[in-house]
Amino acid sequence: MSDLAYRRVLLKLSGEALMGDEDYGIDPKVLTRLGREVIEAHEAGAEIALVIGGGNIFRGAGLAAGGMDRVTGDQMGMLATVINALAMQDALEKLGAKCRVMSALKINDVCEDYIRRRAIRHLEKGRITIFAAGTGNPFFTTDSGAALRAIEINANLLLKATKVDGVYDKDPEQHPDAVKFDNLSYADVLSRDLRVMDTAAFALCRDAGLPLRIFDMAQPGVLLRILRGEAIGTLVGGSR
Ligand code: UDP
Repeated sequence: MSDLAYRRVLLKLSGEALMGDEDYGIDPKVLTRLGREVIEAHEAGAEIALVIGGGNIFRGAGLAAGGMDRVTGDQMGMLATVINALAMQDALEKLGAKCRVMSALKINDVCEDYIRRRAIRHLEKGRITIFAAGTGNPFFTTDSGAALRAIEINANLLLKATKVDGVYDKDPEQHPDAVKFDNLSYADVLSRDLRVMDTAAFALCRDAGLPLRIFDMAQPGVLLRILRGEAIGTLVGGSR
């Protein structure tokens, strides 16, 4: 038996988390480091699903601001998340893990189509499963894709890795006196107008009662420590 507080989790990484010190694309060293963290937590007994954003390559809103049709831009953004997922799959497999990529957009020459029951089976069989292409619909984000998939696979926790080590009452980069929250209810987030996730993603989590933990992935070993029950970052909608 594992000593973990959570059996099945979904980890959301932004596309920018893959860039390292670059300002575009993927740094293989960062991919390997993140892959090691995920494998460490997986080997401790957790079933792990991943959602990776696409902001290191394309975001639909940015492309639309430059004059492109928004839906086309969002489709490019979703394809960017597939590129990131394939890169992470490669890194995980090089490190010896079993991994599958499942896409919300049908491109089954390069990865599997997302099928809920098959996704759960992959997780049960010990495969780290990456959900790519967000929700498959324009005008959404990968935060919404992460919330949706976490609920569909009955994850115990949604983990959102950010550059900040939790949720603060104001931007800690601009306000040295900003105060970090250890625990928040869904109602606290709304009443204080805290930016935890985008509105659609947050509403999905709240309605499903899915707890989420916002944390900084930079510290080595942090993922495993969280899965063991350590209160790192900010927990929203949970009991501990
Ligand atoms: N996207 C989309 N529908 C989805 C998920 C993502 O259209 O369900 C597009 C959207 O253009 C988004 C881009 O894919 O900007 C990349 O995702 P996101 O911005 O969430 O990536 P992150 O900020 O996490 O790197």
